[in-house]
Amino acid sequence: MNKAELTTNIDGISVSPHNFINGRRVASKDCFEVRSPLDWTRKLAEVSRSDEAIAHDAVSAAVEGFKHWSSFSTSRRVEVLYRLADLIDANVAKISTIECLDMAMLHESLRLRVIPRGALNFRAYADLVAEHTERSWHSKGTANRVIRDAAGPAVVITPWNAPFMLATWKVAPALAAGNSVILKPAEWAPLSASMLADFINEAGFPEGAFNVVQGLGSEVGASLVADPRVRRISFTGSPATAQHIGVAAARNIVPFTAELGGKGPLIVFADADIDGAAKKAAAQFEDSGQVCLAGTRLLVERAVKQEFMDRFSSYTDQHVFGDSREPATTLSPAIHPIHLERVEGFVERARQAGDKIIFGGARYDPEKLWYKPTLIEPKSNQSEVVQKEIFGPVLTLQTFDSEEQAVELANSTAYGLSGIVYTSSSARASRIGRAVRAGTVWVNSFLIRDLSAPFGGYGISGIGREGGDYSLDFHSDLKTLQILEDSVS
Ligand code: NAD
Repeated sequence: MNKAELTTNIDGISVSPHNFINGRRVASKDCFEVRSPLDWTRKLAEVSRSDEAIAHDAVSAAVEGFKHWSSFSTSRRVEVLYRLADLIDANVAKISTIECLDMAMLHESLRLRVIPRGALNFRAYADLVAEHTERSWHSKGTANRVIRDAAGPAVVITPWNAPFMLATWKVAPALAAGNSVILKPAEWAPLSASMLADFINEAGFPEGAFNVVQGLGSEVGASLVADPRVRRISFTGSPATAQHIGVAAARNIVPFTAELGGKGPLIVFADADIDGAAKKAAAQFEDSGQVCLAGTRLLVERAVKQEFMDRFSSYTDQHVFGDSREPATTLSPAIHPIHLERVEGFVERARQAGDKIIFGGARYDPEKLWYKPTLIEPKSNQSEVVQKEIFGPVLTLQTFDSEEQAVELANSTAYGLSGIVYTSSSARASRIGRAVRAGTVWVNSFLIRDLSAPFGGYGISGIGREGGDYSLDFHSDLKTLQILEDSVS
């Protein structure tokens, strides 16, 4: 295949839908089709459906790439990471266009916030390794030092929601630590990962330091995580997939982190800014609710339920569904017909079980993938819509009368990724913030992130923590070097 055949043109942007291995594009024998959720009749690309042999080649490339990349000095590594961040910044418009067509997130959010975060991820980790000083101390006549050694090839597996940002969040610390990477993006939104490979190529990484393997999770994803030459696995996706990956990681004794689903509470106390809370609650419908951190269970103090509902309904009514490329649009479609059917299944079962559908509960157009913002008042806290992650524009509403009850409801699912609390009391903010069992709790805000903070989930929302030094430690083998002081001169 020549170079032209290895790329496809999408709205004037050249994108390769194939693998990137050892610095070169490699097409697989078979392909799968990727369509746009904005218009399901539109085929975007035929993407490589890679097999075990391709997975093997990619790991072989990463083994060789690791030798070169891990031998770069820290300052040289930092320089290349910065160059990559600059290339991402220079290409935000192109990446946003492709990501928007591929998975339908709002173009304005992509352009202004989500894609630039990709560049920030690389800069943040470049800075962290540049500033890192080895911990050292003296004790019992010995000099001690903690050394971070790059661990080896890392497999990074990502989901289809915000795929570019989530990939960079995981790839940046792996590369900054000196590991080589094989990225396997989700088959429903694979294109921006291929673009990342182009920028990495241009930034000056050695061949094999970064590789992309396209294909289905159950096929090539499973082959990658089973390869014993892989020394780290960093996964974001569903708990069900994490169980498969965990088994493969255990077989090879490979550390793995898992950032998984959520069922976050959004707790509104009577003393809160009710209007601000209602506005934030209505914002949970954005991106078609396909946000792992979303506050999908509205827990409202009974005394302010009516006021909250009036304002929440009014903000929800202001949403505009439409083409995600239009600046006025606030509601995007579901990623895929199969996913939308899954969301519809949850709502139908809730209806049949006697949960009350307060509003929504249907598509805007039966032929298209936009689902109406939906609010359900469940019959009980055990209702499926309260206990299971829906990953669609579907929220539940429950009331409480005391702090204890709010905390009990907040902590009553198997998940624990995030929580949102609205209160004007600083003492309560601290009490409830500590009591909610979740990896991140926001008080009177949502999605403000400090990249040095630990990120991950309690319960079935994850294993391990990513962010700042937590990620760099994960991607390193930590060594204690101890020298008996009187024995050397
Ligand atoms: P998924 O688990 O179906 O797929 C995730 C990735 O795993 C895909 O790339 C897929 O191809 C791959 N995969 C599937 N089976 C595999 C296997 N056997 N071996 C190796 N890889 C395999 O998840 P999804 O539907 O793409 O994403 C949605 C889920 O991700 C939701 O649960 C959401 O909450 C979660 N998520 C979590 C976070 C977080 O930071 N905690 C962020 C975004 C999404």
